[in-house]
Amino acid sequence: MKITSNFDSGNINVLAADAPTDIKLSIRKDHQSDFYQWFHFKLESVAMVEHKMSIVDLRASAYPDGWKDYHAVASYDRKVWFRVDCEFDGDTLTINHTPEYSNTYYAYFAPYGYERHLDLLAWAQTFNECLQTNLGETLDGRDLSLLKISEASDDSEAQQREKKVVWITARQHPGETMAEWLIEGLLERLLDDEDGVARSLLAKCVFYIVPNMNPDGSYRGHLRTNAAGINLNREWATPSMEKSPEVYLVLNKMRETGVDLYLDIHGDEALPYNFIAGGEGNPNYSSEIADLEDAFKRVLMQITPEFQDTYGYPKDAPGQANLTIASNAVGNEFKCFACTLEMPFKDNANLPDHTFGWSPSRCKQLGEDLLIAMNTITPV
Ligand SMILES: [Zn+2]
Repeated sequence: MKITSNFDSGNINVLAADAPTDIKLSIRKDHQSDFYQWFHFKLESVAMVEHKMSIVDLRASAYPDGWKDYHAVASYDRKVWFRVDCEFDGDTLTINHTPEYSNTYYAYFAPYGYERHLDLLAWAQTFNECLQTNLGETLDGRDLSLLKISEASDDSEAQQREKKVVWITARQHPGETMAEWLIEGLLERLLDDEDGVARSLLAKCVFYIVPNMNPDGSYRGHLRTNAAGINLNREWATPSMEKSPEVYLVLNKMRETGVDLYLDIHGDEALPYNFIAGGEGNPNYSSEIADLEDAFKRVLMQITPEFQDTYGYPKDAPGQANLTIASNAVGNEFKCFACTLEMPFKDNANLPDHTFGWSPSRCKQLGEDLLIAMNTITPV
């Protein structure tokens, strides 16, 4: 029996692996940080035999509530990720699974690997509407890549200045792989020149999309931080090239282009719902922004039962927003509608799927649906 995690986004410590029903594991902390929650490993063992894999010390993990009613994902082919039975006793998560093959991968959520990220960028740039640029380098020397998407005919800067500027960033928190799955679905629709919603949007807007804000943390198998152990979504007030080049470079580019609408895509460990957190606590929040936010949520609820506005984060008091958080910082500085979209690690409790839970396909569909909501709230 062998357990390995020495691959892209792998993360596990093996404490004991003496018998299939007596496997003890723990999760490695993000480098130079105390956060841990993301895991991804391969079990090589005997097929058709019951295995019990206990991940210990989870009371001190980043989101202990995330393990309650949580079911890990597993895959034999690294394409289809299905849910497996888990129990949580307050500190230990036990995965009970009888694998059908001798090699099985397990993860916190369906991984979105670095090669797939590069494939996505390369595929996108082959469309006339899309320009792939790199804003600079991360601390581990990876490209921080940006996709600019605009009407192919719309090549003059003057024409583009007439248009609304939409920014979308994903995966500041690298373990929230659902965010990049969502971007994949959104891009597939936005780049489909036979899709009316995409054509309508591109007639009105220019898009700047960062599919992965944290490629280093993603590759390293981190939950929440970059290569220096920095939580990028607390860096937006004072980003630096030394600690948080990812934020520094994106914010600089935003100041160059302006921002009229901003979505920052995340996953939430504990809440089994899709929801957004808005900018109600921003000093520059206004009734116009509130109306846009309400309209955006209303349209999303009309078009998909995957979205709801009953469960979410507590609202910020007026003027009390944390301006180190991306959507607050951007919404406040550019006086625009900006929000954080959260998807579940577990499932949408309003529409549960016991086989797959919240899944890559559902993330991609929500990404497509977001475009309808954006199109509806953006005036011609
Ligand atoms: Zn997050």
